Amino acid sequence: MTVIAFIGLGNMGAPMAANLVKAGHAVRGFDLSPAPREAARAAGATIAASAVEAARDAEAVVTMLPAGRHVLAVWGEILPQLAPGTLVVDCSTVDVESARRAHALAAERGCPSLDAPVSGGVGGATAGTLTFMAGGSAEAFGRAEPILSRMGRKVVHCGEAGAGQAAKICNNMILGISMIGVSEAFVLAEKLGLSHQALFDVASTSSGQCWSLTTYCPVPGPVPTSPANNGYKPGFASALMLKDLRLAQEAAAASGAATPLGAAAAQLYALHNAQGEGGADFSGIIEMLRGEG
Ligand code: NAD
Repeated sequence: MTVIAFIGLGNMGAPMAANLVKAGHAVRGFDLSPAPREAARAAGATIAASAVEAARDAEAVVTMLPAGRHVLAVWGEILPQLAPGTLVVDCSTVDVESARRAHALAAERGCPSLDAPVSGGVGGATAGTLTFMAGGSAEAFGRAEPILSRMGRKVVHCGEAGAGQAAKICNNMILGISMIGVSEAFVLAEKLGLSHQALFDVASTSSGQCWSLTTYCPVPGPVPTSPANNGYKPGFASALMLKDLRLAQEAAAASGAATPLGAAAAQLYALHNAQGEGGADFSGIIEMLRGEG
């Protein structure tokens, strides 16, 4: 049994912490808000009065927070209180620059650290089937892997500090662009009198095949489990897609990468959010493209 501090017990953090409890770890959690604290307590975690109290004497600390500034604030607060050698892992989705700064703070304290954002959403967090993409030293990865594998099905070591966040934003840029591409194709098919099912049957077995079509189809019918069949309830909220596309654009600007379709996707998701659809599933962008948004 390992004593693990878990800071940030929101939609993702609470079910992830619950899976660590199920795996037999002693989990000490903390969140600024009462409702997430109660969710984690109900799942068997002990709740501490502060992030510092949760982290003190823990063998490993996991953070699952909204953005880079929250991660830097929490790591800045807890690291001076940690024994050198304590493992620190951030699973939030943040900008690559903040992730690297967090690693530098941990290194100053002599703590091995990992950026390990996830793919799989709240469903994957609950089922323990997340994919983790990790950046950091081989030592940090070796120590974190047994912990992360209790919360996910696949744990990939992507490279050094920041590589996990880099993988996450590259993947989600593909996803945002491909969802818009698939949605545009369905809207064009509608105008041409081609049925959704006919386009699906052809494209899903042709060169247009992709996850946005075959797993997450943005029109109701062909894939019964996709959010299109459920009023575009998330799933993966449009606001989170916009967050990730903006992180990709920041990284592209900082590194000099040309990402014209990534930029267009970020603009279209900004419009979708501005229309009040930030809480809807990101595949709901098809309604905006159809002119119904
Ligand atoms: P959330 O808003 O539900 O949870 C974040 C929690 O952090 C909140 O409960 C908040 O009170 C807490 N918090 C903020 N500042 C804090 C502090 N200083 N100390 C302690 N707690 C603090 O968000 P979420 O959906 O759980 O997402 C968490 C992270 O995971 C984000 O970076 C998000 O981009 C990423 N992510 C989310 C999903 C998803 O589907 N929800 C999927 C993949 C990745």
